[in-house]
Amino acid sequence: MRMQYLDRIFNEMTDLIYPRRCPLCDRVLGRDEQKKLICSECENKPVYIHSPYCLKCGKQLTDPNEEFCMDCRKRSHGFVRGVALYDYSSIRVSMYRFKYSGRAEYAEFYGREIGSVFGGLFRKWGIEAIVPVPMYAGKERMRGYNQAEKLAESIGRESGIPVFRRLVKRVKNTKPMKLLGVGERAANLKNAFIIASNDVKFNKVLLVDDIFTTGATIDAVAEVLMDAGVSYVYFAALSIGAGC
Ligand SMILES: [Zn+2]
Ligand SMILES: [Zn+2]
Repeated sequence: MRMQYLDRIFNEMTDLIYPRRCPLCDRVLGRDEQKKLICSECENKPVYIHSPYCLKCGKQLTDPNEEFCMDCRKRSHGFVRGVALYDYSSIRVSMYRFKYSGRAEYAEFYGREIGSVFGGLFRKWGIEAIVPVPMYAGKERMRGYNQAEKLAESIGRESGIPVFRRLVKRVKNTKPMKLLGVGERAANLKNAFIIASNDVKFNKVLLVDDIFTTGATIDAVAEVLMDAGVSYVYFAALSIGAGC
């Protein structure tokens, strides 16, 4: 009882020193907004990917008769399938702060949303382990955190699925993907990832990243996981573009 009381005091003090902010507009949350982790004005701002979406990559579809997006009809992928929470353009500014401006705390809201929207699907898929797309160590030191890892931890808390942060390692300081064309992306990721544990015993793994664009990164990580004996790799991304 006493510990719980001290815990509560500690949490309240932390909130006073580092007030929790809305992940969309960055405004400090009011007392009644703390629980929801988003401010009342922004609640309806992010655009959720909804049915129908591509049964391979999770991209928004408009025609309910289609099962796959144009891109997935043309290209094959190493992963089984994946889902994304938001349309990228609706959270673009927030994503920038989440990645580059030290707002690691946004992961709390975003991971909880992914876990609550897709948790049932992850259980149906039989996911045994959640693995964040790793960041190059030097880059992570500079930034202070890996946003994919923060997301993965938050999804793990919401879904109850264990998170393995160090299963895969990024050993190459790859160029930012947004600067590269589709062909260059795969070359940029060649030999970029290795398995960091020699005891991978999972059959079904969920990879987590902040954004899905062409799928080159997820494919590259899926490949090393499958080389290590994982049979099925799925993914969950915070956001996805409209079409590419
Ligand atoms: Zn807001
Ligand atoms: Zn697709």
